Amino acid sequence: MGQKCQFCGGKVVYPEQRLCDKHLARYVEKRVDKVLGKILGREEKRFLVAVSGGKDSMGLAHAMAKTDLQMELLHLDLGVPEVSAPVRQVVEGFARDRELKLHTVSLADHGFTLPDLHDHRRDFRSTTCSLCGSVKRYLFNSFAHEHGFDFVATAHNLDDMAAFAVMGLSCGDLQYASRMDYVSWPEPEHRMVGRIRPYFYVPEKASLVYALTQGVPFSEAACPYVTGNKQVAIKGAVAGVEGVAPGFKLHLTKLVKGHKEPSQTSPNQCQLCGYPTAVEVCRFCRIKQKLTDQVEQA
Ligand code: SF4
Ligand code: ZN
Ligand code: ZN
Repeated sequence: MGQKCQFCGGKVVYPEQRLCDKHLARYVEKRVDKVLGKILGREEKRFLVAVSGGKDSMGLAHAMAKTDLQMELLHLDLGVPEVSAPVRQVVEGFARDRELKLHTVSLADHGFTLPDLHDHRRDFRSTTCSLCGSVKRYLFNSFAHEHGFDFVATAHNLDDMAAFAVMGLSCGDLQYASRMDYVSWPEPEHRMVGRIRPYFYVPEKASLVYALTQGVPFSEAACPYVTGNKQVAIKGAVAGVEGVAPGFKLHLTKLVKGHKEPSQTSPNQCQLCGYPTAVEVCRFCRIKQKLTDQVEQA
């Protein structure tokens, strides 16, 4: 006989906590609500939910749409042939069905695509994922700032956070790791909107089963550049430790989050775009400048 839900005796869909679909939904939505509850006066704030089309961000948008928050969606079209267009359709269908306002920004409108970033990654002595991450963070923030949003919500889950902690610890950089938090407050003086990660304490598997059991549409298309992503490899290793020591991901994430190191420097303004940067010209502007030159010459 199959396991029964610890609360109602119904059929278990999430064995890790012995929960049926209804109680898994409560578990996930309670965690989302707890993080959103950190924002005082949240009914007055405007939230921009970043939706990639994957299970986590679509599930998060679904959970947040059940609240009374003022929220809109932002999708970045990365311009990957045969992947980006179908993913965009999934996101557009989701927004249409739920009558949510969707904004789409195409990297191509900035003069390059994700395949261009990949082809030129060595020019930046970087990896595709690192460049892609910088571009996404920049565009989420600048779009939100320019359209009057207070917070960008992203769907980083507990497994992402634990992997982030291990990555920071593995290079002995506690300052890097301690940046992880479920809320980063807006800094209008630096043209920075706030960041919120409502899935901070939601394990990846719970996120997947939540999306499936709630009937949330999502794309399973894998990014062609994910191979070699260090964070993915670390996530696998963390899952291995969790298997022999349940609770590891949660304890590690809490431990590293609790270790706060104050930032030593206040950011400069990028000479080209005015957004914050540690150097004279921000990474996005450097990428854009170099890639648009090279893509035009090709
Ligand atoms: Fe970007 Fe890497 Fe994610 Fe692909 S796998 S979307 S390159 S961060
Ligand atoms: Zn139940
Ligand atoms: Zn800039």
